[in-house]
Amino acid sequence: MYIVMLGKPGSGKGTVGKMLSESFGIAHISSGELFRNYIKKAGNIGKTIEEYVNKGILVPDDLTIKLVEKRLNEKDCENGVILDGFPRNIAQAEELDNFLKEKNKKIDIAIELNLSDSDIIKRIITRRICPNSECREVYNLDFKKPVKDGICDKCGTELIQRDDDKEDAIKQRLETYHNESEKLVKYYKSKDLLYAVKLNMNSGKTSEDVVKEVEEKFKK
Ligand code: AMP
Repeated sequence: MYIVMLGKPGSGKGTVGKMLSESFGIAHISSGELFRNYIKKAGNIGKTIEEYVNKGILVPDDLTIKLVEKRLNEKDCENGVILDGFPRNIAQAEELDNFLKEKNKKIDIAIELNLSDSDIIKRIITRRICPNSECREVYNLDFKKPVKDGICDKCGTELIQRDDDKEDAIKQRLETYHNESEKLVKYYKSKDLLYAVKLNMNSGKTSEDVVKEVEEKFKK
C-alpha cells in the first residue's frame, strides 16, 4: 500500500502518517526527517540541504528525488510506504508515479489534512520535537504537552524547537506550500485518489479520529 500525506507544514501529516504506518505495518518516510538526518551528519550534501531547509524553501528536485528514491529502494519499503512531505510539487509527483510504475506499483490514496494558515501558525509556534532519530515524537505546548516539561515522555531526550518552526520560516514555508505543493491536491483529485480531511483548531477532531476514518475507508 502506497499512501501520500498532503497538507501544509504543521497540519499533522507526520503524526497521522506515523500512526498509519503502525496500523498498516508499513514504513513511514518523512522527507523532512531524511533531510534533517543528512544535516546532522554534516558533509557537503548536508550543508547544501541545510541552506534550503533553514530558509523554508524546497530542496532542489534532483537531490530530493535521488535521496527519497534511495530510501524507497530499501527492503522495508517493499510492501508499501507512507510518504510524508514527498512529493512536494508536480515534478516530484510525476517522478514518483514513474518510479512506482517501473515496479508495477502505484499510489493507493493521497490523504490531505486541510487547516487554515492561521491555525497552522498557531500550531507550529508551539510545536516541540524529540530530536532522537529513533523516537521523533512530536509534542505541542497547547494540546499535547509532555508529562515533564521539555522532556520526551517516550525516551527522556530533551525536546527542541525546529529552527524552521520559528515565525519567519513558517511564513516562508506556507508561501512555498501555496506556490508549489497545493497543486498536488488537484493532481491527486484528477486521478480520483484524493481523500481530504477538513480540520480546524476547535473541531476537536484528533489525529486518532483521522486514522480511524482512513482505516474504515480501507476496510470498505
Ligand atoms: P518538513 O519536515 O516536511 O516540514 O520539511 C522540512 C523542510 O525540508 C522543508 O521546508 C523543505 O526545505 C525540505 N523538504 C522536505 N521535503 C521536501 C521535498 N519533498 N522537496 C523539497 N524539499 C523538501
